[in-house]
Amino acid sequence: MSNKDKKETELDEARATMIERDLVARGITDQRVLGAMRAVRREHYVPAKLVEHAYDDNPLPIGSGQTISQPYIVAAMAHAAEISPSDRVLEVGTGSGYGAAVLAQLAAEVWTIERLANLAEYARGVLAADGVHNVHVVTGDGTLGWPEEAPYDAIVVTAGSPGVPAALQGQLAVGGRLVLPAGTKRRGQTLTRVRRSNGDFSREDLGSVTFVPLIGEQGWKPDEPELA
Ligand code: SAH
Repeated sequence: MSNKDKKETELDEARATMIERDLVARGITDQRVLGAMRAVRREHYVPAKLVEHAYDDNPLPIGSGQTISQPYIVAAMAHAAEISPSDRVLEVGTGSGYGAAVLAQLAAEVWTIERLANLAEYARGVLAADGVHNVHVVTGDGTLGWPEEAPYDAIVVTAGSPGVPAALQGQLAVGGRLVLPAGTKRRGQTLTRVRRSNGDFSREDLGSVTFVPLIGEQGWKPDEPELA
Protein backbone atom coordinates (compact mmCIF):
# COMPACT_ATOMS: atom_id res chain seq x y z
CA MET A 1 0.00 0.00 0.00
CA SER A 2 1.38 3.45 -0.88
CA ASN A 3 1.75 6.06 1.83
CA LYS A 4 -1.06 8.03 0.28
CA ASP A 5 -3.43 5.02 0.36
CA LYS A 6 -2.38 4.27 3.94
CA LYS A 7 -3.14 7.85 4.98
CA GLU A 8 -6.51 7.68 3.25
CA THR A 9 -7.40 4.40 4.97
CA GLU A 10 -6.46 5.88 8.35
CA LEU A 11 -8.65 8.90 7.68
CA ASP A 12 -11.53 6.64 6.59
CA GLU A 13 -11.22 4.83 9.90
CA ALA A 14 -11.07 8.11 11.79
CA ARG A 15 -14.24 9.26 10.01
CA ALA A 16 -16.08 6.02 10.83
CA THR A 17 -15.01 6.38 14.48
CA MET A 18 -16.17 10.02 14.57
CA ILE A 19 -19.59 8.98 13.24
CA GLU A 20 -20.12 6.39 15.97
CA ARG A 21 -18.45 8.23 18.87
CA ASP A 22 -19.51 11.84 18.22
CA LEU A 23 -22.76 11.51 16.26
CA VAL A 24 -24.60 8.22 16.87
CA ALA A 25 -23.62 8.06 20.56
CA ARG A 26 -25.01 11.61 20.99
CA GLY A 27 -28.35 10.77 19.47
CA ILE A 28 -27.92 11.54 15.77
CA THR A 29 -29.66 8.58 14.17
CA ASP A 30 -31.08 10.25 11.04
CA GLN A 31 -29.78 7.87 8.35
CA ARG A 32 -29.70 10.50 5.62
CA VAL A 33 -27.63 12.84 7.81
CA LEU A 34 -25.28 10.01 8.82
CA GLY A 35 -24.92 9.07 5.14
CA ALA A 36 -24.00 12.65 4.26
CA MET A 37 -21.45 12.79 7.09
CA ARG A 38 -19.95 9.51 5.82
CA ALA A 39 -19.78 10.79 2.25
CA VAL A 40 -17.88 14.04 2.87
CA ARG A 41 -14.17 13.90 3.67
CA ARG A 42 -13.58 16.66 6.22
CA GLU A 43 -9.83 16.42 5.61
CA HIS A 44 -10.38 18.12 2.23
CA TYR A 45 -11.79 21.18 3.98
CA VAL A 46 -9.24 21.71 6.77
CA PRO A 47 -5.85 23.43 6.33
CA ALA A 48 -3.15 20.95 5.17
CA LYS A 49 -1.27 21.10 8.47
CA LEU A 50 -4.39 20.05 10.40
CA VAL A 51 -5.36 17.04 8.27
CA GLU A 52 -4.50 14.59 11.05
CA HIS A 53 -7.01 16.46 13.26
CA ALA A 54 -9.76 16.36 10.63
CA TYR A 55 -11.96 14.06 12.75
CA ASP A 56 -11.28 15.63 16.13
CA ASP A 57 -14.43 16.49 18.06
CA ASN A 58 -14.02 20.25 17.78
CA PRO A 59 -13.93 23.21 15.40
CA LEU A 60 -10.57 23.98 13.73
CA PRO A 61 -9.09 27.29 12.58
CA ILE A 62 -9.29 27.97 8.82
CA GLY A 63 -7.65 31.41 8.74
CA SER A 64 -9.10 34.96 8.78
CA GLY A 65 -10.16 34.33 12.41
CA GLN A 66 -12.81 31.82 11.28
CA THR A 67 -13.37 28.11 11.96
CA ILE A 68 -14.67 24.95 10.32
CA SER A 69 -17.52 23.75 12.54
CA GLN A 70 -17.32 20.68 14.78
CA PRO A 71 -18.71 17.61 12.92
CA TYR A 72 -21.43 17.06 15.56
CA ILE A 73 -22.72 20.61 15.08
CA VAL A 74 -22.79 20.26 11.29
CA ALA A 75 -24.80 17.03 11.64
CA ALA A 76 -27.12 18.44 14.32
CA MET A 77 -27.91 21.53 12.23
CA ALA A 78 -28.47 19.47 9.07
CA HIS A 79 -30.84 17.24 11.03
CA ALA A 80 -32.67 20.22 12.56
CA ALA A 81 -33.16 21.71 9.09
CA GLU A 82 -35.18 18.59 8.04
CA ILE A 83 -33.82 18.61 4.50
CA SER A 84 -35.51 16.58 1.74
CA PRO A 85 -33.83 15.56 -1.54
CA SER A 86 -35.82 18.12 -3.56
CA ASP A 87 -35.05 21.05 -1.22
CA ARG A 88 -33.33 24.31 -2.14
CA VAL A 89 -31.15 25.41 0.76
CA LEU A 90 -29.33 28.60 1.74
CA GLU A 91 -26.31 28.42 4.04
CA VAL A 92 -25.06 31.66 5.62
CA GLY A 93 -21.34 31.46 6.47
CA THR A 94 -19.50 29.29 3.91
CA GLY A 95 -16.19 29.26 5.79
CA SER A 96 -14.31 26.16 4.62
CA GLY A 97 -17.20 24.86 2.48
CA TYR A 98 -17.53 21.70 4.62
CA GLY A 99 -21.05 22.45 5.89
CA ALA A 100 -22.16 23.27 2.35
CA ALA A 101 -20.74 19.95 1.10
CA VAL A 102 -22.77 18.08 3.75
CA LEU A 103 -25.95 20.02 2.93
CA ALA A 104 -25.32 19.31 -0.78
CA GLN A 105 -25.60 15.57 -0.04
CA LEU A 106 -29.05 16.10 1.45
CA ALA A 107 -30.60 18.76 -0.81
CA ALA A 108 -31.15 19.37 -4.52
CA GLU A 109 -29.30 22.67 -4.56
CA VAL A 110 -27.40 24.80 -2.06
CA TRP A 111 -26.53 28.47 -2.16
CA THR A 112 -23.92 29.45 0.39
CA ILE A 113 -22.95 33.03 1.17
CA GLU A 114 -19.69 34.19 2.77
CA ARG A 115 -18.78 37.77 3.69
CA LEU A 116 -15.01 37.26 3.34
CA ALA A 117 -14.14 37.06 -0.36
CA ASN A 118 -10.89 35.13 0.23
CA LEU A 119 -12.70 32.35 2.13
CA ALA A 120 -15.45 32.19 -0.52
CA GLU A 121 -12.86 31.85 -3.26
CA TYR A 122 -11.01 29.13 -1.38
CA ALA A 123 -14.18 27.17 -0.60
CA ARG A 124 -15.27 27.39 -4.25
CA GLY A 125 -11.99 25.73 -5.26
CA VAL A 126 -12.20 22.99 -2.63
CA LEU A 127 -15.82 22.15 -3.47
CA ALA A 128 -15.00 21.93 -7.18
CA ALA A 129 -11.97 19.72 -6.48
CA ASP A 130 -14.19 17.53 -4.28
CA GLY A 131 -16.66 17.06 -7.17
CA VAL A 132 -19.51 18.94 -5.48
CA HIS A 133 -21.56 20.49 -8.29
CA ASN A 134 -24.82 21.51 -6.62
CA VAL A 135 -23.35 24.25 -4.38
CA HIS A 136 -23.17 27.87 -5.49
CA VAL A 137 -20.77 30.00 -3.43
CA VAL A 138 -21.57 33.71 -3.38
CA THR A 139 -19.97 36.63 -1.56
CA GLY A 140 -21.93 39.18 0.45
CA ASP A 141 -23.71 39.98 3.69
CA GLY A 142 -25.70 36.86 4.48
CA THR A 143 -27.72 38.59 7.21
CA LEU A 144 -29.69 39.93 4.23
CA GLY A 145 -29.98 36.42 2.78
CA TRP A 146 -29.70 35.90 -0.96
CA PRO A 147 -32.97 37.24 -2.39
CA GLU A 148 -32.07 36.26 -5.97
CA GLU A 149 -32.86 32.59 -5.31
CA ALA A 150 -35.49 32.89 -2.53
CA PRO A 151 -37.62 31.28 -1.24
CA TYR A 152 -35.64 28.47 0.40
CA ASP A 153 -36.97 25.29 1.98
CA ALA A 154 -34.24 25.54 4.59
CA ILE A 155 -31.76 28.20 5.72
CA VAL A 156 -28.81 27.21 7.91
CA VAL A 157 -26.75 29.97 9.56
CA THR A 158 -23.29 28.95 10.76
CA ALA A 159 -22.36 32.10 12.70
CA GLY A 160 -23.90 33.48 15.91
CA SER A 161 -26.54 36.17 15.44
CA PRO A 162 -27.81 38.67 18.05
CA GLY A 163 -31.36 37.93 16.89
CA VAL A 164 -33.32 36.37 14.03
CA PRO A 165 -32.63 38.46 10.91
CA ALA A 166 -35.98 39.50 9.40
CA ALA A 167 -34.58 39.13 5.88
CA LEU A 168 -33.83 35.45 6.48
CA GLN A 169 -37.31 34.73 7.87
CA GLY A 170 -38.75 36.50 4.85
CA GLN A 171 -36.84 34.25 2.44
CA LEU A 172 -38.27 31.03 3.89
CA ALA A 173 -40.79 29.10 1.81
CA VAL A 174 -44.07 28.20 3.51
CA GLY A 175 -43.16 25.15 5.61
CA GLY A 176 -39.51 26.22 5.54
CA ARG A 177 -37.04 25.92 8.45
CA LEU A 178 -34.42 28.45 9.52
CA VAL A 179 -31.77 27.03 11.87
CA LEU A 180 -29.45 29.53 13.51
CA PRO A 181 -27.40 30.18 16.63
CA ALA A 182 -28.98 33.26 18.23
CA GLY A 183 -28.20 35.15 21.41
CA THR A 184 -27.03 38.43 22.83
CA LYS A 185 -23.51 37.21 23.67
CA ARG A 186 -20.97 37.36 20.88
CA ARG A 187 -19.70 33.92 21.90
CA GLY A 188 -22.34 31.54 23.18
CA GLN A 189 -25.77 31.22 21.61
CA THR A 190 -28.94 29.11 21.60
CA LEU A 191 -29.46 26.94 18.56
CA THR A 192 -32.86 28.14 17.35
CA ARG A 193 -35.26 26.75 14.75
CA VAL A 194 -37.80 29.07 13.14
CA ARG A 195 -40.55 27.41 11.13
CA ARG A 196 -42.76 29.23 8.65
CA SER A 197 -46.40 28.22 8.26
CA ASN A 198 -48.27 30.60 5.94
CA GLY A 199 -47.92 34.00 7.59
CA ASP A 200 -46.81 32.65 10.96
CA PHE A 201 -43.37 31.94 12.36
CA SER A 202 -42.81 29.65 15.35
CA ARG A 203 -39.55 29.34 17.31
CA GLU A 204 -37.96 26.40 19.14
CA ASP A 205 -34.80 26.28 21.27
CA LEU A 206 -32.53 23.33 20.47
CA GLY A 207 -29.74 23.86 23.04
CA SER A 208 -26.58 25.84 23.74
CA VAL A 209 -23.88 26.30 21.10
CA THR A 210 -20.83 28.47 20.44
CA PHE A 211 -20.16 30.06 17.06
CA VAL A 212 -18.04 32.91 15.69
CA PRO A 213 -20.12 36.08 15.33
CA LEU A 214 -22.41 36.76 12.36
CA ILE A 215 -21.28 40.18 11.17
CA GLY A 216 -23.52 42.33 9.01
CA GLU A 217 -26.43 44.69 8.68
CA GLN A 218 -28.85 42.42 10.60
CA GLY A 219 -26.12 40.79 12.71
CA TRP A 220 -23.27 42.16 14.82
CA LYS A 221 -21.31 45.29 13.91
CA PRO A 222 -17.64 44.35 13.33
CA ASP A 223 -16.47 45.79 16.69
CA GLU A 224 -19.72 45.86 18.70
CA PRO A 225 -19.52 44.66 22.32
CA GLU A 226 -22.06 42.21 23.73
CA LEU A 227 -25.62 43.43 24.01
CA ALA A 228 -26.30 42.03 27.47
N1 SAH B 1 -20.06 26.41 7.60
C1 SAH B 1 -18.67 26.72 7.86
C2 SAH B 1 -18.49 27.38 9.21
C3 SAH B 1 -17.77 28.66 9.05
S1 SAH B 1 -17.65 29.71 10.46
C4 SAH B 1 -17.81 25.50 7.70
O1 SAH B 1 -18.34 24.39 7.63
O2 SAH B 1 -16.59 25.64 7.64
C5 SAH B 1 -18.77 30.99 10.03
C6 SAH B 1 -18.48 31.78 8.77
O3 SAH B 1 -19.49 32.80 8.70
C7 SAH B 1 -17.14 32.51 8.72
O4 SAH B 1 -16.45 32.12 7.58
C8 SAH B 1 -17.53 33.99 8.66
O5 SAH B 1 -16.67 34.77 7.85
C9 SAH B 1 -18.93 33.91 8.05
N2 SAH B 1 -19.79 35.07 8.27
C10 SAH B 1 -19.91 35.87 9.35
N3 SAH B 1 -20.83 36.81 9.15
C11 SAH B 1 -21.34 36.61 7.88
C12 SAH B 1 -22.33 37.26 7.08
N4 SAH B 1 -23.02 38.33 7.50
N5 SAH B 1 -22.58 36.77 5.85
C13 SAH B 1 -21.89 35.70 5.37
N6 SAH B 1 -20.94 35.05 6.08
C14 SAH B 1 -20.67 35.50 7.32
